[in-house]
Amino acid sequence: MDAIDLLKEMVRVNTVDSRNGDRIIKLVLGYLAKEGGAFTHERVSIDGVKNLIVYTGKKGPAFVLNGHYDVVPATRDGWATNPFEPVERGGFIYGRGTTDMKSGLAAQVSAFARYSRNPRGRAILMVVGDEEKGGFRGTGPLVERLANKEKIARLLIAEPTSQNVLGDISKKGCRGVLWLNVAIKGVPGHASRPLQAKNPIEAAAGLITYLRTAKFPEKSNMVPTTAITTYVHSDSGATNVIPELAELNIDVRYNHGTKPANVVKMIERFIAKTGCRATVKILEDSPYFINKDKGFERIVAKVVKRHTGRRIKFTTVGGSSDARFFSYKGIPVLEFGTRMEGMHGNNERVSIDDVRTLERIIYDVMTSERAR
Ligand SMILES: [Zn+2]
Repeated sequence: MDAIDLLKEMVRVNTVDSRNGDRIIKLVLGYLAKEGGAFTHERVSIDGVKNLIVYTGKKGPAFVLNGHYDVVPATRDGWATNPFEPVERGGFIYGRGTTDMKSGLAAQVSAFARYSRNPRGRAILMVVGDEEKGGFRGTGPLVERLANKEKIARLLIAEPTSQNVLGDISKKGCRGVLWLNVAIKGVPGHASRPLQAKNPIEAAAGLITYLRTAKFPEKSNMVPTTAITTYVHSDSGATNVIPELAELNIDVRYNHGTKPANVVKMIERFIAKTGCRATVKILEDSPYFINKDKGFERIVAKVVKRHTGRRIKFTTVGGSSDARFFSYKGIPVLEFGTRMEGMHGNNERVSIDDVRTLERIIYDVMTSERAR
């Protein structure tokens, strides 16, 4: 059995919303028992989400692999194949989760199994659910638990990060995620006399464009801050009435130079100039994070170069992930994995060669890291 066989088995298990986690855990433990050396494990169930932690090697600073088995939903229409039946075609495997991230998980399990036959130091494998829902029933609480009993040296997550070819991009962090609700209060009135009213819809329209083009303070090597409107609502109840209220939701991805309180102020100031008034609520704020361990980046870059010939770039592009839970605790974490083909979309697929190469990269990163 190898990583590809394991990947196919995993795709067959429908893990939308972390369901059937126990079946994935059984597959992983079965694989490790067959292909691996000595290991111990514990199952941790958090509010119904099944998670697994596997340990190998003598106790000491641990190198950790973390991968999620849960996937986003897939509907049969839109797909050329059954998303929960792995189909091999033209060097690819098609199916939900093939890139995000059952292939990364399978490669990690396979590399961990190999490593456990002759461990050079402590290594830990985390198999988690709930990542697609925020990780609060998976990695979030597990990090707390682990950090109390183990010293975590470094961590790799094989999320899909490669863009055009395997080995071009690794993620070294992520911008902060700030979700805002903006209620704009105007002055209602008759649509035939707009000057006697303050139209909150027009203020909202101005704000949307302003935020899209505003210059936010930037002072780092992260991708620039963006503020995107994702929800708009206003209804006066009649076509000839200017409404009193308009409501927006805004997704802000922010950088080192930007503070959430300042974004709120920018919005309030802009709306005040229109004669309306804005009340801004922070719905969610997860700060940015970034890896500062250059030695770790050098190891990953060297191993990737050896296996792919490519010079990897470390960026902060893309959405948030379970990596943040480790980074907030000061643990160096990098994400590296396959290309994102059809990720969260239709006809998701992964290159079989890429999964095999990824497995070798993960194994070599583990052993080089341990040899330092
Ligand atoms: Zn993922």
